[in-house]
Amino acid sequence: MSGATGVRLSPQDVEALRHEVTGPVLEPGVDGYEAECATFNLVCPLRPLVVVGASSERDVVTAVRFAARHGLPVAMKTAAHQVVSPAADGLLITTQRMKGISVDAQNGTVSVEAGVRWSEVLPRAAEEGLAPVVGSAPEVGVVGYTLGGGQSPLLGRKYGYAADHVRRLNVVTADGELRRVTPQNEPELYWALLGGKGNFGVVTEIEFDAFPVARFYGGGIYFAGEHLDRVLDAWRAWLPTVDEDMTSSLAIQRLPDLPGLPEPLRGAFVLHLRIGYLGTAADGDRLIAPLRESAPPLLDLVGEKPFTAIGEIHLDPVDPMPYYDRSLSLEEFSEKTAQTLVDLTGPESGCTLVSIEIRALGGAFDQEPEFPNSVPSRGLPYVVFGFAVGGPDQADGLRAELARVFDGLAPWATGRNLVNFLSPDEATDTEGVRELYGAERYERLAALKTVYDPANVFRFNYNIAPA
Ligand SMILES: Cc1cc2nc3c(=O)[nH]c(=O)nc-3n(C[C@H](O)[C@H](O)[C@H](O)COP(=O)(O)OP(=O)(O)OC[C@H]3O[C@@H](n4cnc5c(N)ncnc54)[C@H](O)[C@@H]3O)c2cc1C
Repeated sequence: MSGATGVRLSPQDVEALRHEVTGPVLEPGVDGYEAECATFNLVCPLRPLVVVGASSERDVVTAVRFAARHGLPVAMKTAAHQVVSPAADGLLITTQRMKGISVDAQNGTVSVEAGVRWSEVLPRAAEEGLAPVVGSAPEVGVVGYTLGGGQSPLLGRKYGYAADHVRRLNVVTADGELRRVTPQNEPELYWALLGGKGNFGVVTEIEFDAFPVARFYGGGIYFAGEHLDRVLDAWRAWLPTVDEDMTSSLAIQRLPDLPGLPEPLRGAFVLHLRIGYLGTAADGDRLIAPLRESAPPLLDLVGEKPFTAIGEIHLDPVDPMPYYDRSLSLEEFSEKTAQTLVDLTGPESGCTLVSIEIRALGGAFDQEPEFPNSVPSRGLPYVVFGFAVGGPDQADGLRAELARVFDGLAPWATGRNLVNFLSPDEATDTEGVRELYGAERYERLAALKTVYDPANVFRFNYNIAPA
């Protein structure tokens, strides 16, 4: 077996690896390979030379050492929501069998193994009255989300990024060493891992703080798309009036005609205003009244909910689909920005994106954490994420539509961005990755990459090349 870069693996090599690890070892053509390589975005397949389905920390160490011996680059996958390269010449480590979760109610911390998704942590933490800094989609993996910062639509404006609350990471670096990384014992590697996402090693376990939050007031309000300018105006005027207990975003959606959707949303052009509020329902009702009154709602799903229902704020898609996406951050969201957005995506625009959303950040997202990390999006007031659904045969048209909308917003864009929202197209843009981090942060990351991964073994990501 050999890859495009000429790396060779003999059947004996693979067989030897199979004997060394507990989980499955799969090559192309073998039963189970396709399932092990499955991705959330169907236009981003994984095609590694070999896959190791790690079932323990020891399996990860063995797989990384095997890769080092054979000159193979390494990719890792948990819940596959951000696969940016087919990893064609590489060894893929999948972690979904590593499911350990422990909650320490006394210290308010949670520790999970690499294969855990947020949906698995939420009920366990809730049993102890705790809530982690989870994002909008509970089906994403804890480790990838947190290494990319982790921007929560409910707890983020109050507590900051998920990465800001990490106490410990167990990580296997490119030399095959298992390291226990805390801000006290390895401050540089700790800094690089949290923000440098996937560039510095395979995390096998992560421990982080959770917060005593049992419920929230929130959900979505849907309006007909024709009211975009009114809803945008109301939202913009309202944003500066609320404190960090309130988080919101607005998605402009052209929804498919799917039987799973409630009737007013099927095949409809709608606005989805999302609310996440930590105060009481009475205060929440009072606070969001100006938004509710901005246009006649089609469907109002805002109410009192247990924290475990956090996924109901955004109602993100959960089934795999083919899509192309882009993101950027806005320095401001002025009247002119809003008007441009209406022109680009409103009723008269001919826009075909399934969704374009603007998340308002601010609050604790702007604060430096107690233990420094390399999350590059601190201080950005707004992020925009859009996607167009379709397969590779439609790629040119879908990319052109994304470019039309995102280039139209470029006058307000900052170079920095959320690592977690980067698309496969953005990952291959070396200059873009540098700009995303900012020159100073990028140089420091590149210098640390030279120390911890000089051969760039972990390169199937938004790659930080060794200095
Ligand atoms: C519908 C949807 C909603 C989202 N909402 C939010 C949100 O609200 N806030 C937010 O911040 N992000 C959000 N994201 C982005 C999401 O957090 C990232 O895509 C995250 O990386 C997904 O993790 P995964 O395990 O599913 O992905 P995977 O594709 O399995 O992993 C993605 C990358 O993470 C790194 N990684 C994964 N596992 C490891 C490991 N064990 N060690 C080292 N590196 C690893 C690797 O670089 C890997 O390529 C959303 C994504 C989607 C698709």
